[in-house]
Amino acid sequence: MPGKILGIHHITAIATSAKNNHEFYTKVLGLRLVKKTVNFDDPGTYHFYYGNETGEPGTLLTFFPWEGIRRGRLGTGQVTAVSYSVPKGSMKFWLDRFGRYGVIYNNPSERHGEEVMVFVDPDGLKLELVSGPEEDDRKPWLVDEIPAEHAIRGFHNAALTLEGYEATARLLTEEFGYVKVAEHVNRFRFENPNGRHANKRDLVCLPSGQRGSVAGGSVHHIAFRVANSEDQMEVRERLVGLGYNVTPRMERNYFKSIYFREPGGVLFEVATDEPGFAIDEDVSELGRSLKLPEWLEPQRKDIEKALPEI
Ligand code: ZN
Repeated sequence: MPGKILGIHHITAIATSAKNNHEFYTKVLGLRLVKKTVNFDDPGTYHFYYGNETGEPGTLLTFFPWEGIRRGRLGTGQVTAVSYSVPKGSMKFWLDRFGRYGVIYNNPSERHGEEVMVFVDPDGLKLELVSGPEEDDRKPWLVDEIPAEHAIRGFHNAALTLEGYEATARLLTEEFGYVKVAEHVNRFRFENPNGRHANKRDLVCLPSGQRGSVAGGSVHHIAFRVANSEDQMEVRERLVGLGYNVTPRMERNYFKSIYFREPGGVLFEVATDEPGFAIDEDVSELGRSLKLPEWLEPQRKDIEKALPEI
């Protein structure tokens, strides 16, 4: 199985307002809404996908905006930080921009030889901008106020906070092909040599930490990439063999998914690169209209009426 996992596919979090969420990610961060659809398991709720122009795996942050839901609590058993890659020399631009838009941030600091700026979205979701020594050649989505040389490229890494880290580390290294590349006090960095981007994962060990609770402003799950269904089934069989409870394959229209809980309590997904977001609308039109899976089309009128304006 090592070699089948290629890095992060997407990360899914919960928001408390569709409108505020949409404004922050498209306007302030300049990401593209690549798909506007609903939560297939709860069609009264949007599912937004933000990414680069085509919604490439490794650039996709997705949200279920549950209007008015309580805020979650950061803690163990969760993805506690989502990091985006920006080009070198971009921090000043983003500091000014965050100041102008009233975004809460910390001044940049150094970590693992990279420049990191921590900030939060309107629901308190912890995000980071990271610029590292290697150039990130992914093509960013471009909006008026953000020049290409500073635009967000896609994910850099994600941090998981765990009570203990060994069992999760074993899953990453022995099964998912990650290699431990750095260690600093209680933070361990793993890198996946099979993917060029969004291939880093930090495990933060917090033995006395409080368990997190998933609600507004927290991450629901994190998905790893595989190229196709065959690789996904291979991964599934292997995980089942190791004693994990893995869901059957689920049809997500833009990819296929399996889910399981890793030993530290974080919900993991393995999602396919295929078929991608251009399956039901042209790349130039991505995210403009509400897309529903075929089985929800008969309910379109009711669904549209129940969804808030953005
Ligand atoms: Zn997912």
